[in-house]
Amino acid sequence: MFDLVIEGGELIDGTGAARRRADVGIAGYKVVAIGLLADQPARQRVSAKGRIVAPGFIDVHTHDDCLLLHAPQGAHPKLSQGVTTVITGNCGISLAPLMTQSPPAPLDLLGTSDWRFDRFADYLDALEQAQPIVNAACLVGHSTLRVKHMQQLTRAATPDECARMAADLASALQAGAIGMSTGVYYPPAQSATADELVAVGAPLTAAGGMVAMHIRDEGDAITAALREALHVGNSLGITTVLSHHKLVGTANHGRSFETLSIIDAAAKTQSVCMDCYPYNASSTMLLPARVHQSSEVLVTWSKTEPLAAGRSLFELAKERNRTPEDVAKALQPAGAIYFAMDEGDVSRIMSHPLTMIGSDGLAHDVQPHPRLWGTFPRVLGRYVREQRLLSLELAVHKMTGLSARRFGLKGRGVLAVGNFADVVIFDEHQVADRASYQQPTRVSSGIDAVFVNGVLACEQGRTVHSHAGRVLRRA
Ligand SMILES: [Zn+2]
Repeated sequence: MFDLVIEGGELIDGTGAARRRADVGIAGYKVVAIGLLADQPARQRVSAKGRIVAPGFIDVHTHDDCLLLHAPQGAHPKLSQGVTTVITGNCGISLAPLMTQSPPAPLDLLGTSDWRFDRFADYLDALEQAQPIVNAACLVGHSTLRVKHMQQLTRAATPDECARMAADLASALQAGAIGMSTGVYYPPAQSATADELVAVGAPLTAAGGMVAMHIRDEGDAITAALREALHVGNSLGITTVLSHHKLVGTANHGRSFETLSIIDAAAKTQSVCMDCYPYNASSTMLLPARVHQSSEVLVTWSKTEPLAAGRSLFELAKERNRTPEDVAKALQPAGAIYFAMDEGDVSRIMSHPLTMIGSDGLAHDVQPHPRLWGTFPRVLGRYVREQRLLSLELAVHKMTGLSARRFGLKGRGVLAVGNFADVVIFDEHQVADRASYQQPTRVSSGIDAVFVNGVLACEQGRTVHSHAGRVLRRA
């Protein structure tokens, strides 16, 4: 007797294989049968007629470390998109291990109130106790380790400091962290050398962890930055994820031909992959130096001028008769959206075989980038249905099977007998993002139902169960 049969749908299993007509039988939190199950007894049956049944999506690039600790109110940015698992702690920024009341930028992108875990194990335990809304696998941020272990961030770490950071990482891996993230792009880690990253990341090799890297430069100096990241991953002999791969600045538009060929060449001798989000605008802390590269800059939050959230930096500058850089300085600390990418690069990177989908959403922003609420439906609506850039099967693979394999998430990402029952039912003709730069928190359409570990968690964008997720600790 099944607890649940999802019947009548077209199954896309996450491997990249063609869709097929099949029902999914679930008992407890696992898939126990796939096939034609119409005459099999079940406690509950859900019709997926005319719909796609796929593995729950995996958001490989998130900053949901704090978001997951608190029971959500109303619709949920990730669950409502069909996401059932998130990777936290990206870009060098993880909530643990660090206790502070005033995290320096960009750590403050995670909010300022939850920096209360001296050990990574304590964070994982708290997450488990909170019973998160979706599954979470967690990275340890190198910048977080730096802020914890170094007095002065404007130089490379000494061998002693590297050893202390490495020891902290080793105990986090022991507790179940899946790897390390780095963000040498950002002020707290800009002075870190490749040697420092290799020294701190040393425990990853024996533990079978991985590294996700926000590289040093995504503009003019991107090739050197890519080579540095590939060198670090290769020296450690581990899987390297190049985070939110993109090219910023008009002068660099079209250079994805060059960067992807560097990545392809490296992939012949080392395990490397990347993630991307389906937008031609990026978002992070408000950096005055980034302003000139962008055709438009929208303020996402500002501590000094909260009312600036949602405004154009260039308009504010005009009103005040000052330069946009000056206004950017006056708004600090703050966040922004930068329009500085080329749609051709976005498409080319998204369709590359090594690319997975990750939102990079910032849940604590007042006026966030719409990628927080719209990434996955946008790929399925805009890039699959409208532009036919990818087949639906391939797009789902980039959100599920590929991601689970690269991040070592056992029993996730593929709908197969014995795997966990993380399932999304969606309408391939209706699925679409509705979040925009003006209205960034609108719930996507076409996502009918989402099951997390066999539990119905979301129906038509509405959360119906907030605690079905689990902490996915490294085996
Ligand atoms: Zn990043």
